[in-house]
Amino acid sequence: MLVVQKFGGTSVGGLDRIENVANIVKKYKENGEDVVVIVSAMAGETNKLLEYAAHFTKTPPQREVDLLVSSGERVTSALLSIALQSKGIDAIALTGRQAGIVTTSDHMKARIMDINPEKMQKQLEKGKVVIVAGFQGINENGDVTTLGRGGSDLTAVAIAGALKADKCEIYTDVDGIYTTDPRIEPNAKKIDMISYDEMLELASLGAKVMQSRSVELAKKLNVDIEVKSSFEPFKKGTLITKENEFMEKVLVSGIALDKNQARVSIFGVEDRPGISAEIFGKLADENINVDMIVQNVGKDNKASLTFTVPATELEMTKKVLKEYENSSEAIEYDSDIAKVSIVGVGMKSHSGVAAEAFETLAKENINILMISTSEIKISMVIAEKYGELAVRALHTAYELDK
Ligand code: ADP
Ligand code: ASP
Ligand code: MG
Repeated sequence: MLVVQKFGGTSVGGLDRIENVANIVKKYKENGEDVVVIVSAMAGETNKLLEYAAHFTKTPPQREVDLLVSSGERVTSALLSIALQSKGIDAIALTGRQAGIVTTSDHMKARIMDINPEKMQKQLEKGKVVIVAGFQGINENGDVTTLGRGGSDLTAVAIAGALKADKCEIYTDVDGIYTTDPRIEPNAKKIDMISYDEMLELASLGAKVMQSRSVELAKKLNVDIEVKSSFEPFKKGTLITKENEFMEKVLVSGIALDKNQARVSIFGVEDRPGISAEIFGKLADENINVDMIVQNVGKDNKASLTFTVPATELEMTKKVLKEYENSSEAIEYDSDIAKVSIVGVGMKSHSGVAAEAFETLAKENINILMISTSEIKISMVIAEKYGELAVRALHTAYELDK
């Protein structure tokens, strides 16, 4: 049996925690399993490095940022290898490059293009535990790239796929996926099994427990994931897998909150064919992830556009839109917003789910600024300060605590 185990920032957040991880890995190894371990940087480390870079400029060169932040994961991979070897377990730590991970060139959100697993396989054949620094690879120029925040999850899934592992375990600081972030709603319930599609929606709508791209890849490669706690490593976690008959057909399976969004409104822009293509094309050229676009009905040859972007991409968005300052009536930016979303495959066949959400927020006197829906989700943009309140109210309204 080959098992891929990924340990997140809190799980490797100090030397004692790394020791704890070494003990978990040792148990598996002693049970006769082959183990590949993916590690994150120590909790807070990536943010600290990003702050260092931001000390000099608001827009540091991304190539250097990647070289900088990839160091966090190297530290923990080497330390874990040292810890294991000191316990008599043969191990080897590899950087993303050494593990054969080749990515696109988009620094800070590169995509994995290929994994050459030979080096990992050779070390496994020698009986070693292979430890890989998560979150990183190299591009075709040989420069270090990183895979976007939370990217160690992606490293784990991609390696599990490339090595055809029997199991992929994501160890974190909660013991599974809950109906909503248990830190916001203490009555949240743990979910035994969740489909890729629902997890993908929850993750891309703000549930940072799994990086959304890692779930997308898991679905594509058909990699089953178990999310579990590194503090209770032998307790059953949550299985993320293909939709199947054992899954409860609940109306709503979870609620997600994303506070890292910003709203952009362009008022009174020229209403002519191609204007949206032009503006969003320019944003796309800068790799900005635009979401929830609303355009009002034009009047007097003027239209208004409102959309959201990740807060981290707001500076770049402002730069791109600078040229529209004179040709529009006004451009407004608001980063004090939150997006709260309800997710559930059961929504496909039920009506009235959205109405109930709107009513719930109305009862709490929370104004809805934007709405978007798909087959299995409803998202609402509200003022940031009401984010947690909205999550709790919706959680109760859909009886997720029952
Ligand atoms: P790691 O450092 O292990 O990658 P993260 O901090 O990225 O861990 O993700 C774990 C956190 O995700 C939890 O501590 C929890 O607060 C948060 N979270 C958000 N939504 C959920 C959810 N639906 N279920 C479980 N945890 C969630
Ligand atoms: N250390 C990186 C981050 O904080 C990657 C990860 O933890 O998965 O985003
Ligand atoms: Mg994470």
